[in-house]
Amino acid sequence: MTTTQDHELIIVGAGPAGLCAALYAGRSEMDAVLLEQGAPGGQLLLTELVDDYPGLEEVGGLELAERMTEHAAKFGVESTYGVVESIRRDEAGRFLVAVSDGTVYRSSAVVLTAGGTPRRLGVPGEEEFRGQGVSYCAICDGAFFKGQTIAVVGGGDSAVEEGEFLTRYAEKVYVIHRREAFRAQAVLEERLLRNPRAEVIWHTVVEEIRGDDSGVASLALRDVGTGETSELPVTGVFIFIGFDPNTTVLAEHVEHDAGGYLLTDRDMRTSVPGLFAAGDVRSQLVRQITTAVGDATTAVFAAEKYLVDLAEREGSESAAAGSEGAAAPAGATSA
Ligand SMILES: Cc1cc2nc3c(=O)[nH]c(=O)nc-3n(C[C@H](O)[C@H](O)[C@H](O)COP(=O)(O)OP(=O)(O)OC[C@H]3O[C@@H](n4cnc5c(N)ncnc54)[C@H](O)[C@@H]3O)c2cc1C
Repeated sequence: MTTTQDHELIIVGAGPAGLCAALYAGRSEMDAVLLEQGAPGGQLLLTELVDDYPGLEEVGGLELAERMTEHAAKFGVESTYGVVESIRRDEAGRFLVAVSDGTVYRSSAVVLTAGGTPRRLGVPGEEEFRGQGVSYCAICDGAFFKGQTIAVVGGGDSAVEEGEFLTRYAEKVYVIHRREAFRAQAVLEERLLRNPRAEVIWHTVVEEIRGDDSGVASLALRDVGTGETSELPVTGVFIFIGFDPNTTVLAEHVEHDAGGYLLTDRDMRTSVPGLFAAGDVRSQLVRQITTAVGDATTAVFAAEKYLVDLAEREGSESAAAGSEGAAAPAGATSA
């Protein structure tokens, strides 16, 4: 059976952006609901250690997720388990957020903080050693590989740029690409190829990530041309084969960039009035915890302002309609 719940604000996704949005919505005493399909924390739950969140020199991803969840709960926003299946609008322009248990949440404003998902290689060892040498984020984890030999997998802008970035920490960075040429911008490619700490292994794929209790130890490689196999000793592997923003729930077109990330203005407004986007789901230069919470802060205050303006507009429209209605009999009399 479908039930409908009305709220002032709906927040979709409880990663750092959603939890921060809930904190500020609760603190502003808005009637908001936070919908999350899994445990709260988002990508923090994939992160072993965070050492770049100001004020917390080193904190485990799980611990930070728990602390953010408790902090948001303190301000009283309703947090609900729910897999959001679609976000569409009714004839009145209100958002209808449908959740898999049949509940429809309705509001005039939505903050979408559904984040994104790094694409997986899908080889043995990848899940086992995630956070133990397998990473999807160079800015986040690069510093843990000082002086070590590591590998980067991929051939687009991210792989090439992040590969070069990682040479500031690692002694040696192998960039493993299955083709014979990169798909990256020429300037990024030149920078990488000039770097003495970087070496490209062309037309090669990773078949397995191997290791032991202390983490990644080597990669099993296969040359896609000759079929020859080899083993490359590395202590870390960074996978940059794409990242998918979680936007498939949007039933209508929302302006986005070539990668599918939602375009917003400085107030996190998307091209759909009342729909705000914050964190990794949004088109921006870097995707970090700090940027996610910053976006979310802006989005909630912008949403609050949007709702006030909307209420004023609707109030003055109904007053105008009321006075027209009241004037009608007089008009009828004079006719
Ligand atoms: C391995 C790894 C290590 C990282 N390390 C760091 C680091 O050290 N420092 C740093 O600053 N950043 C780090 N990052 C990046 C950082 O985690 C992200 O930038 C940040 O989590 C983005 O927050 P977000 O809330 O926008 O999205 P996410 O964290 O992706 O959260 C989105 C949430 O939305 C939920 N969701 C999605 N779709 C639906 C749906 N249909 N219905 C309901 N819920 C939904 C998801 O379940 C998820 O909980 C790391 C990322 C990874 C992958």
